[in-house]
Amino acid sequence: MSVRANGRHIELDGIATAHSHAFQRALRGRTHRKKRASETFWSWRELMYAFAMRLDPESMHAIARFAFAELALSGVTAVGEFHYVHHEPSGRPYADRTILAEAVIRAAREVGLRITLLRVLYERAGAGRPPEEGQRRFCDASTDDALADLDALRAKFRGDPHVAFGVAPHSLRAVRIETVERALEYARESTLPFHMHVSEQAREVEECIAEYGMRPVELLAERGVLDDRFCAVHATHLLASEASTLGAARAFACVCRSTERDLGDGLPLTSDLVRSGARLCIGTDSYASSDPFEEGRAIELDERARTETRCAALDGAALVEVLSTHGYAAIGMAGREVEDRVVLDRLDPSLAGAADETLADAVVFGASPRAVVEVRIGDRWVVEDGTIAGLEQTTRAFEDALRSLSS
Ligand SMILES: [Zn+2]
Repeated sequence: MSVRANGRHIELDGIATAHSHAFQRALRGRTHRKKRASETFWSWRELMYAFAMRLDPESMHAIARFAFAELALSGVTAVGEFHYVHHEPSGRPYADRTILAEAVIRAAREVGLRITLLRVLYERAGAGRPPEEGQRRFCDASTDDALADLDALRAKFRGDPHVAFGVAPHSLRAVRIETVERALEYARESTLPFHMHVSEQAREVEECIAEYGMRPVELLAERGVLDDRFCAVHATHLLASEASTLGAARAFACVCRSTERDLGDGLPLTSDLVRSGARLCIGTDSYASSDPFEEGRAIELDERARTETRCAALDGAALVEVLSTHGYAAIGMAGREVEDRVVLDRLDPSLAGAADETLADAVVFGASPRAVVEVRIGDRWVVEDGTIAGLEQTTRAFEDALRSLSS
């Protein structure tokens, strides 16, 4: 982790978003009109499902490629893609079973980003309830089928140092604990990262208590799921004791503040998580924002709003570690961040006047993505002079995909 002054530039190691659903970039700005008495996460989810039903391999690729180009332009070098749209809308697998996962991986590689494809397992609408129509394409006939697809993907991309894989039971709502345990066995055999949405909404916690008599983190701890490769995405509705449990396991908590604000997810116990030793990372999740500096500062600023204090949990240097070291480690790329470089223009209006002694604070609390002038990922310059090769075509393909999906 470091922030270095270099003439008129400021240089950072690579920055990772550890939680992304790239296709949801298509929804930005399109879900903010009130259509019923009370809009919630659950009513937003209906809109997202309706959109996910219409995706095909071509539109998935076009949207993901644009989403990843925007990430790179904003200073992001690595993405953990929590990939859950696997099959045809009916739920039947494509003839080429992994075509959608490969469309997303290809999009990242064309842009130049590192990607960890976190292959999602999904099997039900909730305790004792079969999948709803909008969830069928997320579901596999069996856990073995899902893991076989992951085997095939891993074999296909073996040898590409920019592509990695992880296992991701969607949530305790969507997957039974026995399936979580089976997936964990697979992940541990291959030392893969293990990600899950955990306690994003209060209702999930209530349903978990009703089904198992325990809260989500309590259940995961009891079944031995938590370790230093486990990443709890959101971790919004934890008790302080659950935050301690995550910390004791040296697990990750992936905080996605722009999305959580957008969806009305509530505020996490950030100070408790940090104090207990949980490693925080950021996620651009639904692409309410693609700005990693905003995601980083929001972790601290929302904690200030919650606790009515200043300098509550993390300073600039610690937040750079969140963006960089922890993010890469969470997606199974520990240490690779030093192979990547994000270069900021110190004379950009968002950074002008930054002091050497507080450079990390100036970057995390002040920088706009506009300040990103160069991004190198491995030995490839992905962003040069503030732009990315082929941006116009990438944008046009994205807009074409949106038009055809909404017609
Ligand atoms: Zn998510």
